[in-house]
Parts: sequence; structure tokens; C-alpha cells
Amino acid sequence: MTSAEIRELARACGFELAGVAAADPPSEDRERYRAWVEAGFAGGMRYLTDRRAAVRDDPRNLLASARSVVCVGKLYNTPRPYSTRHTDPELAWISRYAWGEDYHGAVRCGLERLDGMLRERAVAGYESRIAVDTAPPFSGADLPVCLPGYESRIAVDTAPLLERSFARLAGLGWIGKNTCLINQGGGSWFFLGELLVSLDIAPDAPPPDRCGTCRRCIDACPTAAIVPSPAGTGWAVDSRLCISYSTVELRGAIPEERRASHGRHVFGCDICQDVCPWNRRAPVTAGDAFEPRHAAPPLAMLAGISEAEFRSMFRGTSVTRARYAGFLRNVAVAMGNSGLPEFRAPLERLAASGDPLIAEHARWALEKLAPCRGRACPTPTSQRNPMLRTP
Ligand code: SF4
Ligand code: SF4
Repeated sequence: MTSAEIRELARACGFELAGVAAADPPSEDRERYRAWVEAGFAGGMRYLTDRRAAVRDDPRNLLASARSVVCVGKLYNTPRPYSTRHTDPELAWISRYAWGEDYHGAVRCGLERLDGMLRERAVAGYESRIAVDTAPPFSGADLPVCLPGYESRIAVDTAPLLERSFARLAGLGWIGKNTCLINQGGGSWFFLGELLVSLDIAPDAPPPDRCGTCRRCIDACPTAAIVPSPAGTGWAVDSRLCISYSTVELRGAIPEERRASHGRHVFGCDICQDVCPWNRRAPVTAGDAFEPRHAAPPLAMLAGISEAEFRSMFRGTSVTRARYAGFLRNVAVAMGNSGLPEFRAPLERLAASGDPLIAEHARWALEKLAPCRGRACPTPTSQRNPMLRTP
């Protein structure tokens, strides 16, 4: 089997990108990853720093018989404006990757199909080899006693694997200064997945780094989270400074000095991808799985949802990872950053919450609002008309 054949099969399984890397430890990236963890850049993400960090060193820790890593990319971009064009102070921003269906299921489903196809072909290839080898004058008596060997394991951001490194080695793209995988023709709006297989497949070659002298992502990052890599060369994201980390992974309070730079992001951040020139003409995904259910919902509406409404509104999307209290914490900060006096009433309700995390962030936000002119604060437009608006 060749990587060109695998690319064709992967396309039939819904993946726009595919390639093959050898299942060897990615030595250079492994050192970069170690330095990143040691510098504390993983913040509180224990799953990146505990014993699973060592497992990441070698794909054979996940599948002992692994010989190749089939890497795939699933495009999730939709024809909607980027966050950098989002200016309405009444609206929140949710990261593009979390707009539609949770990617874990979609990517896993495609990889299971691909796995089935590879298994079928591997077994068929073995059977035809046996038929040739045992044809006269050979008796087949000297053949090793073994069953058709195909072992595999699927990884979708859940197994400890340096997936961007393997995607790069498999020729899917280079790792940009914003640390995203960037494909020359497709940009960076891809979910990645891997299929570790026991098949020996000739690997693809990694493409050159095409960031050149550009540093738009570094300059646009509102929290200066893209910093020189602690490994000595290149760039890294210090998660502790990154809005994506603070709004999705961080449990507990967002450090006060970082709240103002969060803008109106309530889940994730897309800025360093939005400004990347390789995403200027990024293609869009076929189908509607990643179409926004809620891309830029009104902040006032979000401030009023119950836990049950939160679960039902974001069921099946990645947003639930922030959990209800974490999400309302983010909503409160975003309202404070909008500065609109209309948000006084909803923020006062959040400040009276029984959850100290929500209440404290709401109190902080109340101090950021412009004073109300006249006798009463106006009602936010979005509260009068709770229809969700997308940008
Ligand atoms: S996701 Fe946002 S905060 Fe994080 S590095 Fe990119 S621009 Fe900076
Ligand atoms: S914005 Fe520029 S430097 Fe940053 S990833 Fe894109 S091309 Fe590279």
C-alpha cells in the first residue's frame, strides 16, 4: 500500500488531508515538548505533564507493533467572518472549532472507516501473497507460522501523541509560529486525527516552513502568549497566557491582570489563525456538521441561562468542556470588557450567584462598566430579542 492510495481512501472517508509518517519517536519535537512542559507552559493541564507526557515520546507506547502513522486532517472552516471582524459589543465570541459538532466523534468515525478499509486490503494482500508463495514449485512449508498481521489504534486528541509533529512529518503542513499546523493550500482550520498501523508504508516528506519573516500572529495576540520557545529555537504558546487555555481548560479564577485582554471571548480564541495570511482564502468544509449553532450569541442572553439550558444549548459541541460555572465566569469577564452599561442588571444577578467563582468575576466586571446615564440602565437589545445572531 502506498501513501497515495491511502490519501484516496482517506478522501472517501471525508478527510481533505492525509499522509503517512514512520512510527518513530519525533526526536527534535520531543525535546521541544519536554522543554515546553519544563518551562511550565502547560499551565494546569495535568494530562499534558503527568506520566502521559513520557508516553508521548514514542507512538509505540500506544501500539507496540506500530510501523506507520496515518495522519488525517478534517476541514472545519465555514464561510463566516473571522473574529477580527467581530465588533458588536453586545455579542460574545465562541471559537470556530466549537461552533458545530464535537470533532472527536466526527474524526473518529472517519478513522474507523479508514481503519476498516486498510484492514481489508492488508488481509487481501496477505492472502494473495500466500497464494503466490505457495504456488508450485513452492510448497508453502517454509512460510512463517503467523496470522495476517494488521494491528491498529485510533488517536483523536485523546491518546498521548505529538499529533502536530506527526502531521508535519506526514506532509500535511508545517507548524507555524502560532504553533498550528498550516497546509499551503488549505490553511490551518483542520481537526487532526491519527491511525497507528502495523503496516510498513513508505512515509511522505515534511513540507518546508513557509512562515518566512511574517509575525502577524505574534503581533496580533492580545495576551502576548506567543513567545520564543524554551527549547531555544522557534516559537511556542505559553498556555498560561493564552485565552484558549483560560476560557476552556482553566478551572478556577482567571488572574485579574489577564481579564481585560480577553475581549469578548467566552470559549477559545481564533485571533492568531484569523490573521494568518495562509487562512486568507482558506477553503470551507462541505456539509453542515461544523456550521455554527452558536458562534456569537448575545452576552445578556448567555448571562441568564441555567445549567440545564447551558447543557441543552451546547450539547454535542466542545463548549461543554468549559463547564457551566467556567462558562459564566467567561461571560462575566466578556461583559466587563464590553463596558456596556446595559450589562449592569445581568451582571448584578451573576454577582448574587451562589457560586463564588461566578460572583467574583461578575463583581470585577461591574467595576468596568460605563456609568448609566439617566435614571435606569437600558435593556440590552439582545435581551429584548433573544434570537441568536451570528456575525
Ligand atoms: S489563541 Fe489567542 S491568546 Fe492564544 S496564542 Fe492565539 S491569539 Fe494568543
Ligand atoms: S501569521 Fe505569519 S508567522 Fe504566524 S503562523 Fe501565519 S504565516 Fe506564520
